[in-house]
Amino acid sequence: MKIIAIGRNFIDHAKELNNPPPKVPIFFLKPESSIIRNNQPFFYPNFSKEIHHEVEIVLKISSVGKNISAEFARRYFDEIGIGIDFTARDLQNQCKEKGLPWEIAKAFDGSAPVGKFINKNKFKDVNNISFQLALNDKIVQEGNTKDLIFSFDEIISYVSKFLTLKTGDLIFTGTPAGVGTVKKGDRLQAFIADRVLLDFYIR
Ligand code: ZN
Repeated sequence: MKIIAIGRNFIDHAKELNNPPPKVPIFFLKPESSIIRNNQPFFYPNFSKEIHHEVEIVLKISSVGKNISAEFARRYFDEIGIGIDFTARDLQNQCKEKGLPWEIAKAFDGSAPVGKFINKNKFKDVNNISFQLALNDKIVQEGNTKDLIFSFDEIISYVSKFLTLKTGDLIFTGTPAGVGTVKKGDRLQAFIADRVLLDFYIR
């Protein structure tokens, strides 16, 4: 399986990192080895001094598809969850300056904790899902999928022009404003509509 992650998909987050809002979705990949499940801890890596949390809604792909039209995209995911797109911001800034790929900043081991998934039919409207991240019991990020620059359907349609989506693939759909650093000992809890679906510590 693979993880596809969308960058700069909320205006307020693009602004906080001084990036212009994109005209088409920006995506990058994370490998299977980046996943953390079952609320296992994240071990702070020694190659970065600036690991940022980015809370994101995650889609689970439920059938194989290529060149999917936005109109039919909803048939290709069946579950919705929440995850953290951990980013070594110091390394990412160096990569950006030099025009290098982002993998060392985004695809490292443990960079994609994911929580429990919920059947998408449990949501009245997938384009109106609120989500939050608490850092040591304080809410630091809040978003709603109605504010995505590119909707779930548009993301699936765009990404599937380039990559065949396969059952079990995950799509991280972008983070709202409020990204910031984590340190050893921190507790992160991610919520969809006030329900905790991910709860783990930095070690
Ligand atoms: Zn992200």
